[in-house]
Amino acid sequence: MVKFKILITLFLVWSCIQAEAQLAEPTDPVHTEEWSSEPVILEGIIHQANVPKDAIILLGNNLNLWTKPDGSASEWTIEKGIMTVKPGAGDIISKISFEDCQLHIEWRSPEVIKGNGQGRGNSGVFLQSRYEVQILDSYNNVTYYNGQAGSIYKQHKPLVNACSKTGEWNSYDIIYKAPDFDHFGNKISSARVTVIHNGVVIQNNVEILGTTEYIGFPKNVIHGGGPIRLQDHGDFVSYRNIWIRRL
Ligand code: MG
Repeated sequence: MVKFKILITLFLVWSCIQAEAQLAEPTDPVHTEEWSSEPVILEGIIHQANVPKDAIILLGNNLNLWTKPDGSASEWTIEKGIMTVKPGAGDIISKISFEDCQLHIEWRSPEVIKGNGQGRGNSGVFLQSRYEVQILDSYNNVTYYNGQAGSIYKQHKPLVNACSKTGEWNSYDIIYKAPDFDHFGNKISSARVTVIHNGVVIQNNVEILGTTEYIGFPKNVIHGGGPIRLQDHGDFVSYRNIWIRRL
């Protein structure tokens, strides 16, 4: 009987340790990478719709509507309507904040292949400055699937890989629903997002679990409207034709 009780106790302790281990905050970026079942490759065609009448043109021929996060002038380059990341200059944000929105954005990875995995043509579109739709040269470039082009970074891999060839233009059409919080700061409904990459649905109204984190679980801290943030990840990724509609 005593032995039986000891066994039961040991089993309970072991169960508690297992439960703790499952809830423990990951401490290594590898813990949140997904490597099972690679999204199939499906060639898309860049989507260049006419700009709707009620859209705000965030990027035309100048950087007037963009700044660094601290409010100082953006150092990214712009020439003939094509804006390019200046590696090391840091992220940029739109001067206008948004909640629910429809966002059109065209991007291009550098023509010359340099690096691989996350180190090739990496940038990103952060909705409300917090939730990243990944930009990456995912043409013949394998990385963890929830980190490839069109992933909701480390939360949802894309349904398919619709990436253009290296150095060619891509389009994202993003339909975004902001999260809601109660007066106590608790999240009462998650953000949701649909992403159409080169005319192909790659995220279908998926739940955004919280902030984009390189290491650890997504976080949920109350916030209001936020700017669109574009990421400087050290690569010469270019942008053009960015417009947005409030929903
Ligand atoms: Mg990125």
